[in-house]
Amino acid sequence: MGMLRRLDLRADTLPRAAVLRGIVPRAAIDVDAALEIVRPIVDAVRERGVEAALEYTERFDKVRPASVRVPAAALAEALGTLDPAVRAALETSISRARAVHAEQRRADVVTKVVPGGTVTERFVPVRRVGLYAPGGLAVYPSSVVMNVVPAQAAGVESLVVASPPQADNGGLPHPTILAAAALLGVDEVWAVGGAQCVALLAHGGTDTSGEDLEPVDMVTGPGNIYLTAAKRLLRGLIGIDAEAGTTEIAVLADDTADPVHVAADLISQAEHDPNAASVLVTTSEAVADAVDAALAPMVGSTKHTERIRTALSGPQSGTILVANLDDGIAVVDAYAAEHLEIQTADAAAVAARVRNAGAIFVGAWSPVSLGDYCAGSNHVLPTGGCARHSGGLSTQTFLRGIHVVEYTEQALRDVADQVVTLAVAEDLPAHGEAVSARFAR
Ligand code: NAD
Repeated sequence: MGMLRRLDLRADTLPRAAVLRGIVPRAAIDVDAALEIVRPIVDAVRERGVEAALEYTERFDKVRPASVRVPAAALAEALGTLDPAVRAALETSISRARAVHAEQRRADVVTKVVPGGTVTERFVPVRRVGLYAPGGLAVYPSSVVMNVVPAQAAGVESLVVASPPQADNGGLPHPTILAAAALLGVDEVWAVGGAQCVALLAHGGTDTSGEDLEPVDMVTGPGNIYLTAAKRLLRGLIGIDAEAGTTEIAVLADDTADPVHVAADLISQAEHDPNAASVLVTTSEAVADAVDAALAPMVGSTKHTERIRTALSGPQSGTILVANLDDGIAVVDAYAAEHLEIQTADAAAVAARVRNAGAIFVGAWSPVSLGDYCAGSNHVLPTGGCARHSGGLSTQTFLRGIHVVEYTEQALRDVADQVVTLAVAEDLPAHGEAVSARFAR
């Protein structure tokens, strides 16, 4: 018996997608329970601002920062003392991400509907955003890059990066987080994490220095269940991105896959969190056995053995045996993984048939770790099945399409009867009268 529990769907006719969704491994994440935990935190920060945020920070992060806003000198110092190799790697990550995200910005679209009648979709950036970089079990300077690059590409005018303070960095966020922000040209960083962070970003407050902490219009970025629950609670007051919670990887493999590559990639995402999900979907029992055999020594020899072992042996992880690749695609579509690797013959053709995934990594040389840091793609991706309806963070996330409608008198006259007819059909005659009043005189 390997570390991954096994589900054999080869003998069955696959059930329809809705049923399959209930069968695939999934963490029993109790968002309702998390909502109840974070509600008092959000309420307290709304009522008592920074003082409440600092109390929760002391409780959860075991440190009380001198101020929420990180002093400019600390940002400069972090960049000045950054390991040159890490700086060069971050620069590679930033330049590749910038190349991809610059091309995601859609131009305004002007449609001439009829002579004299146009509808323009004008894309306008959100004015001020809060970008979250996690800092609990691990710290994620890469998430600073993945948030900031699309926001800047969209033309966001004012942005704040937030990350939990670290007890071993004097109550400042991790130095590499600060350095990454500085490298990207961000000058506003807040030392606050979790639900209290989202609440403070949404409501604003007065810092310990007396400085105004201006609220934001939108909060994006990945985080644990408490952050996710707070984003859900505050949605509406602020915009949010798709829920990017605890990491998931699914690998669709046939008998051409290299079991050591597959095992390494399953481990790489399990490293994030004991609740992370690693799922192998394969047509080959031999590959499943070989992956199991490879996992044990590899898990034992890596740094975060216990966290990885817990993630791989949890109910959210496992191997699913399928009869053929068609069934494999049906299973990965039902799962809708945050990250999906295709390790099969003719991987590009298989990938083209997948409908639901946050990001797809094609073939033997495109592991998820590449996408985590340096592919140019974004790593803030939907989890928990949200990839069925949402995409990852992109430049468009920070842009709103505003419809600008402009008709001439004649163009309105030409369609007036149809507007009146539909208004009457909806029993909203005043809608029609707003048009006919213009032509009554
Ligand atoms: P985090 O910054 O999300 O969480 C730390 C914060 O959690 C703390 O500051 C604290 O405020 C809060 N917290 C901790 N225990 C709490 C409790 N009992 N009650 C209320 N609040 C509490 O960092 P993390 O914990 O390391 O989680 C990061 C997550 O982000 C991981 O699960 C990782 O897989 C995920 N991630 C996802 C993506 C993605 O795109 N989906 C990318 C990177 C990371």
